[in-house]
Amino acid sequence: MTTTLAPALELDSPLQGLPGVGPRRAERLREAGLETVEDLLFHLPFRYEDRTRCSRIFELAPGLPATIRARLLSPRLIRTRRRGFTIFEAILDDGSGAIRSVWYNQPYLDKVLVSGREGFFYGEPRLAREGMNALVLQNPEFELLGEEEEPEETIHTGRIVPVYRSASGLGGRALRRLIHQALSALGDGIEDFLPSEIRRKLSLTWRGLALRSVHFPPSDPSADTSMEELSEGASPYHRRLIFEEFFLLQVGLALRRRQRRLEERGFRYRFTEETRRKLAALLPFPLTRAQKRVLREIQEDMEGPAPMNRLLQGDVGSGKTVIAALTLAIAAENGLQGALMAPTEILAEQHHRKLEALLRTGAYTLDLLTSSVRGAGRRKLLERVESGETSILIGTQALIGSSVRFARLGLVVVDEQHRFGVVQRAALREKGYRPDILVMTATPIPRSLSLTVYGDLEHSLLDEMPPGRQTIKTLLRAEEHRDRVYEGIRRELARGRQAFIIYPLVEEKEQSELKAAVEMAERLQRGPFADLRVACMHGRMNRPQRDETMAAFARGEIQVLVATTVVEVGIDVPNATVLVVEHPERFGLSQLHQLRGRVGRGSEKAYCILMLPEKLSEEARRRVEVLANESDGFRIAQKDLEFRGPGDILGTRQHGLPALRAGNLIRDASLMTLARREASAFVERLAGGEAKLSRALAQRLERRWQGRFNLLQAG
Ligand code: ADP
Ligand code: MG
Repeated sequence: MTTTLAPALELDSPLQGLPGVGPRRAERLREAGLETVEDLLFHLPFRYEDRTRCSRIFELAPGLPATIRARLLSPRLIRTRRRGFTIFEAILDDGSGAIRSVWYNQPYLDKVLVSGREGFFYGEPRLAREGMNALVLQNPEFELLGEEEEPEETIHTGRIVPVYRSASGLGGRALRRLIHQALSALGDGIEDFLPSEIRRKLSLTWRGLALRSVHFPPSDPSADTSMEELSEGASPYHRRLIFEEFFLLQVGLALRRRQRRLEERGFRYRFTEETRRKLAALLPFPLTRAQKRVLREIQEDMEGPAPMNRLLQGDVGSGKTVIAALTLAIAAENGLQGALMAPTEILAEQHHRKLEALLRTGAYTLDLLTSSVRGAGRRKLLERVESGETSILIGTQALIGSSVRFARLGLVVVDEQHRFGVVQRAALREKGYRPDILVMTATPIPRSLSLTVYGDLEHSLLDEMPPGRQTIKTLLRAEEHRDRVYEGIRRELARGRQAFIIYPLVEEKEQSELKAAVEMAERLQRGPFADLRVACMHGRMNRPQRDETMAAFARGEIQVLVATTVVEVGIDVPNATVLVVEHPERFGLSQLHQLRGRVGRGSEKAYCILMLPEKLSEEARRRVEVLANESDGFRIAQKDLEFRGPGDILGTRQHGLPALRAGNLIRDASLMTLARREASAFVERLAGGEAKLSRALAQRLERRWQGRFNLLQAG
């Protein structure tokens, strides 16, 4: 009689029909992403409270939360003078003592908490305002003991109690009850879809037990877990649910990688001795060990029959562009066209400049396609691309526009992929003969993230800097020291060096920020740098103006360049030794790190000065301080991830970040690595016929991936 639920409640059952969930509530829960019983069960507690131990009332102390078992006396509902504000008050007595308890604005308690009832009460005693050391409980949670309604187990008190974030107007307590009811009604009918060999090997808790215990952990001291583990999401129940979530993700990714390996492109690259010599002759310096290793990895991909799908990660200045240039040259040497896609026009222009300089032999025809290439010029360019005359086409997403047709596209290098969607990548692939794809990112991505967002790519890492790179001294300076900062800059300039001053460009405020940058340049030119050459550069200037400004800065004719973030990536002026960032708190840490990479590119000591505004939150300050103490891009990115969460680092959700319900990319990074390893091995076993794909797992994968690939044959 404890439940009115249909006996056959399943994980897939809709929430509507559970006690207290009518059509309207069901609709609101659905909007919050809770549609089925399983969704509800994946609404995990965000913390737990140990209410196992009962205290006697005489032991209670202010500020220490406690559970008591007591009888209710003298309940009364007080209507205050404030309209609609009520206080329900009662005395709780357990024989050892008595304590007053109040509940605000819950007049219906009048019907529930009647005199003489006994129950568990949980709350934090406070000193009452009347003084005299009297204690009071405010809004304690409670659970009544009664003849008829006595629950088999208490759920709100007298145990380790789950605490939930409210969802769709359902408070934590209502959720707790609902989840408890769902779990009771489910019974033992929860199937486990993880392959049993993996479950055994990793000693993973059975699914049904994990789902139950993650909400209502056993309280006895011999239990498999502790309060610490529970609250850190590290209990065996958590780990089981997180692992399954990661495993589904990684099996899908492993299947995709496998499928791609089975694809064949229409051509194979060859590396003749001549190609090798030519490439070696291109560079004025020897490659670093890391560059050599990465180039070998790329060559192996290119020599194989399947298209390359590789992610190249490396800190700012680690030499990714050099690798891109060589890879494009290899394609050209093999008579194939290459495309280099950048996230913005300015970056495309910079890549064009850089590649022209690097591949200076003139053996390859480089073309730049941006929106400012129009009319006859554009028509001619597109003809060159279509006829195959263009060896390397550089541009933005315009490259994948329908008007661009390649004669034989063999390689696509995508810079800063995370700003492109998966869709664009697929569109590009369709333009060529299954071209090789090399994705470069200068935003170092913490591994747990890259294993998901880029989980379908092979990974290469440039973990070594070219020789002679200076560490950059990073200083935090307050507004009141601005004059001294200018003096410092003057000293550097007097030694023949150059400086950047960077302004953030926040989109919604673009106009005023732009103005700020322009005005700053003027003010500096009139004031502290009157005898020096100051210029301003921003994204609203047209290409020739920007080009001219950049070129003048590179030639040393401009000494101070005030710029919006257009210099973020790619500008290479070794003589620039000072970079001042205004409003550093408005940048992401990784972005700041990249900005900082604009200096220290030569052999001179370099400085990055972060100008702190007067009003700066404690958190913003701590964030900015990370930069002063860290020079390693990956560690900075990891901190960034901790501060801002994965969504912010990669921009938006559309970048294929998985919607995680149990797992947390930061906290559970090692489980992600484990899941990836197990998933890859499992997919290999599947392919080799040594493992079977159960129907339950196949269904799960289908649902998780919504048919985005054909699974290997089930069964
Ligand atoms: P990234 O694209 O990763 O920021 P780049 O390829 O632009 O790095 O290289 C940064 C700078 O270092 C460039 O000036 C480049 O010419 C130089 N560089 C790259 N590789 C080497 C190397 N092996 N030895 C010396 N200098 C290098
Ligand atoms: Mg670069």
